[in-house]
Amino acid sequence: MPDHPSPTKIPRVDEGRCHACRRCVARKVCRSKALVAIDPGEPPFVDGNRCYGCLACVPACPYEAIVV
Ligand code: SF4
Ligand code: SF4
Repeated sequence: MPDHPSPTKIPRVDEGRCHACRRCVARKVCRSKALVAIDPGEPPFVDGNRCYGCLACVPACPYEAIVV
């Protein structure tokens, strides 16, 4: 068994649910800075090259906008 999460567990931001919060708490919990926001008024997205699939961001988002 691998001791790290599978790369297939990389989540994505559901833009229909995302409120593009001024302070994205999901970004705050991401330790690898894989949640990237280009424009503060736009939903962030997951950079698959940085994300290691810990899924800490999923329960952190109050709007359940991060889905696997
Ligand atoms: S991912 Fe969640 S916490 Fe982050 S901006 Fe979107 S709704 Fe807000
Ligand atoms: S799964 Fe982990 S590494 Fe990937 S975006 Fe979410 S918090 Fe960051």
